[in-house]
Amino acid sequence: MTSEELLDKAFKKVAKIDSQADSKLEMIRRKSVSRISSANDVLTTALQRYHNAFPSVKERSESFMIELMCTVTDMDRLKQALSKVGWAIGKLEDLRRNYTRAVKQAPDLNRIDDARKEYYGRTSSVIKRLDSDLKAMAAAREAYRKIPMVDEEMPTIVIAGFPNVGKSQLVERISTARPEVAPYPFTTKGIEVGRFDAGWRKVQVIDTPGLLDRPLEDRNAIELQAVLALKYLADVIIYVLDPSETSGYTMEKQLHLLDEIKGGFGDIPLILVENKADLIQSDSGRLRMSALTGAGVEDLVKEAMRIMKKEENALPREPLAKAQEED
Ligand code: GDP
Repeated sequence: MTSEELLDKAFKKVAKIDSQADSKLEMIRRKSVSRISSANDVLTTALQRYHNAFPSVKERSESFMIELMCTVTDMDRLKQALSKVGWAIGKLEDLRRNYTRAVKQAPDLNRIDDARKEYYGRTSSVIKRLDSDLKAMAAAREAYRKIPMVDEEMPTIVIAGFPNVGKSQLVERISTARPEVAPYPFTTKGIEVGRFDAGWRKVQVIDTPGLLDRPLEDRNAIELQAVLALKYLADVIIYVLDPSETSGYTMEKQLHLLDEIKGGFGDIPLILVENKADLIQSDSGRLRMSALTGAGVEDLVKEAMRIMKKEENALPREPLAKAQEED
């Protein structure tokens, strides 16, 4: 909600509150205390909810999601907004406490009324000061909604290669169920997320149109950052080549992009595979497959599994976690 909508909601709701008491003075006093407390509840609950809705940026800095969030919003502005909302929550509580006391101690109807009105006024000005912050948070929320929901804990294969080399066909071929298409801030096509059960773990396989499918020199800074965000996600990259060149890209161009990707993701294992083996088979000695007929796909998946298992075993956190379990 905007600051105005918030105030509207809070004060409209409290206007309906009524109380009973023996004297008029007591009745107004009770009513005023309830109204202050209800308005504070409505406002604080909403602000707290907005505040908690943003994942802690500090907790997980090395994450695909956080990296992508940085590309679609101004993180410093968002942090500033969050801290201002945090400040406002504290300030509202102070006002509630002070004006509740003022109402309880007021000697007559006028003074009760004054205290209540002053509470409304000061609370409104706190909320109005959040106007641009709430707008910044709403804008960030809209941007985040376009970030695909991928499982960062699941072993992940990321597919790369020029358009039309057969990446999407490969994702469909490997996945047990129909791949989901998630919206993505950098492409109208959306990324394709497939999954399969490798026995040892469930594995995620992702095609990212718009990211790993054209030369890096054609990209702006934000796209480059998004490309690099993939390093937090990918356990293995499968680079698909199309030696038939029916995709419209020469092998020279395809190998150039491959070099760039190797440069950008140096420490992530990369499997090179030639697709469309049903059309043409080169004598390069590289892995071969046909995503269309399925030939060679099983061997490719086995190779990816072999690498991922090796990587996982190499991670120190595994034995540590086991040791803790035994404790
Ligand atoms: P992407 O843009 O890299 O995801 O490519 P697609 O998976 O959309 O495939 C592009 C075109 O190539 C489609 O018409 C596919 O049917 C075709 N294609 C993909 N794999 C093969 C293959 O192994 N053999 C042949 N003959 N065609 C393929």
